[in-house]
Amino acid sequence: MLNTQTLWQTLLPPGSHARLTPTILLLLVATLLTTACGRDREPATTEAAAESPAAAEQQPQPDTPAPTGVRADGTFRIVATTTQASDLSRILADGVPNIEITPLMGAGVDPHLYQPTESDIRAMNAADMVVYSGLHLEGQFDAVFAALREQGTLIYTLSKPVKDAGFVIGGFGADETQSGTDDPHFWFDPRNWELTVADLAQTLAELDPNNADTYTAHAGAYNEQLRLLFTWADEGMRSVPEAQRYLVTSHDAFQYFGAAFGWQMAGIQGISTEDETGVGDIQRTAQFVVDQQVPVLFVESSISPDTIEAVQAAIEAKGGTARVGVRELYSDAMGMPGTFGGTYIGMIAENVYTILQSYRCAGAPATIPDWPDSIDLRPPEELLAANCDTEEP
Ligand SMILES: [Zn+2]
Repeated sequence: MLNTQTLWQTLLPPGSHARLTPTILLLLVATLLTTACGRDREPATTEAAAESPAAAEQQPQPDTPAPTGVRADGTFRIVATTTQASDLSRILADGVPNIEITPLMGAGVDPHLYQPTESDIRAMNAADMVVYSGLHLEGQFDAVFAALREQGTLIYTLSKPVKDAGFVIGGFGADETQSGTDDPHFWFDPRNWELTVADLAQTLAELDPNNADTYTAHAGAYNEQLRLLFTWADEGMRSVPEAQRYLVTSHDAFQYFGAAFGWQMAGIQGISTEDETGVGDIQRTAQFVVDQQVPVLFVESSISPDTIEAVQAAIEAKGGTARVGVRELYSDAMGMPGTFGGTYIGMIAENVYTILQSYRCAGAPATIPDWPDSIDLRPPEELLAANCDTEEP
């Protein structure tokens, strides 16, 4: 089933972007109230949020002229929600004059739970294009996006080309794919990210034809790097014997990663961190680890280590043993800007190094291939040598 949602609508005429529309004003008030009530409030809008984008997809889009993207004065403002979205936007727009990219979420931020702030809403309201991940990853943004669409802001969905190509993994079978149960972590298969790179570059080229050649050239060069990354990661991840390839993490962010490289996943939570973790989940995971003799558990950088620590304690209570990985894994957020793990390529590579080094520390056979010289980015020295005595957390 292809997503037939029109990706863009007419942009507002130049000059009207900065105006706060009544809908956006209402959202601002709602956000301020939410913030005032505290950030740890349990999200109560999951059901309504799950319906609104689906409903938006069903609505016929009005006939609109082709979007122009760039304003009359040549400026082009992009707001990117997740760290992956801003990384890719920056790579494709590198060297394009007058383009401004505003990232919303930083390193270590959990996008499932992130509530857009007042300044986020202002930035999106003033943007010509909002780039987001989709498949309900940014679960708290649905109402804002609906309002932005209504006023004609272009909302670009990074996961759409992957969904259209049929590579989205459903949580609960083919019939359920429209009800918000798609696994949103599609970027963890670098082949999926290649589709996204090409599609976003094409969209930018259409919106900003004067710089089309730049976007296209960046996408071509970057996708070559992604193919080298995939081959390197695949060789390393498959060096672990098949019977030992289990990735035990806090939440199910690694289904695509596992499918790409022949590993099986065991997340303690479901595909969203909004899911509750119960004692049953802890015990079930602990029993699984003991039965399968899984040697390592991994903590994710955007999630509290509490659940993994609880599982480790439960394993020990059953007389088993399991290490915690030598580093945290990047799941929904990348590392700090300016670091290796703060890029898409570095994030995937660092996860591969961390998994293979942790397995080696646990005595499992694993071979880490040499880093390909033709990838522009180089892993830092401290990543290449893991200290088995230093466990995270
Ligand atoms: Zn997630």
